[in-house]
Amino acid sequence: MDKKITIAQIKEAVQQAYDLYKTNTDGKNADYIPYLANINKNLFGISICLLNGQTIEVGDSEYRFGIESVSKVHTAILVLRQYGAKELLEKIGADATGLPFNSIIAILLENDHPSTPLVNAGAITACSMVKPVGDSKQKWDAIVANITDLCGSAPQLIDELYKSESATNFNNRSIAWLLKNYNRIYDDPDMSLDLYTRQCSLGITAKQLSIAAATVANLGLNPVTKKQVFDAELSPKITSMISTVGFYEHTGDWLYTSGIPAKTGVGGGVMGVLPGQFGISAFAPPIDQAGNSVKAQLSIKYVMNKLGLNVFNGHRVTIVD
Ligand code: GLU
Repeated sequence: MDKKITIAQIKEAVQQAYDLYKTNTDGKNADYIPYLANINKNLFGISICLLNGQTIEVGDSEYRFGIESVSKVHTAILVLRQYGAKELLEKIGADATGLPFNSIIAILLENDHPSTPLVNAGAITACSMVKPVGDSKQKWDAIVANITDLCGSAPQLIDELYKSESATNFNNRSIAWLLKNYNRIYDDPDMSLDLYTRQCSLGITAKQLSIAAATVANLGLNPVTKKQVFDAELSPKITSMISTVGFYEHTGDWLYTSGIPAKTGVGGGVMGVLPGQFGISAFAPPIDQAGNSVKAQLSIKYVMNKLGLNVFNGHRVTIVD
């Protein structure tokens, strides 16, 4: 079925979602990372980036928060850019673990590979693969440059978050060395873990994440800067990985109720990709038990349902003025 949606309808849906959930008090800030525990829990922003480069924003869409696990998408894209789709599949994999983001059991169960770059184990492996292998400084520069390309503007390291997370990332240290045990780290394990921790500590805004999501939705062409960031054929690869594991063990429930592939982070950000249509991001610090922002989930679901959008419904949607 052909379906037309106006920009005014999108603006209205975004505003309604914001008004509806602004006062929601469910969930609580991530407390296993001290910095995140102290962020103002009332912050809330939503941003959509259309494929013509226009953004539709409401609330704290320009507040810089910890990107956390949403960065896994960005670095997976960098690995795809540097190695191609086949090698990512061989060296990391693209399977859901069905287990929490930081699961060690998942590695033990699948000791032949770390499953997907969108859980901690695979993300640490992805950081180990970033070229040039062996050079921490240049690897970091490549990670930041790639995020900058995707967002159309640079992220900024939140130094306090980086220190806070580095001092408490004991579980991730175990993951890095367990991966080494299975020959699934392709650079120094401690350096790879440090790069992962640092990328999680980058400050990003909902507006920036919506532009990165729109770049994926737009087959690698950043709709704001007009730069072709990655080859068009990689776009469905990244969206498929977001679809299968974006909400960790709750990914099925998420896709079933929202109809949009999206990736979360414990900093409270969510980035959703609607292929061929737009990128959407919402941010609010309080998260549920699985580590997913309560208000971000509610608001993105609201917008999708209100507009009758769903990646699985087969509608040919055109967004018009
Ligand atoms: N830096 C966090 C960790 O590794 C990210 C977790 C997340 O956002 O899901 O524990």
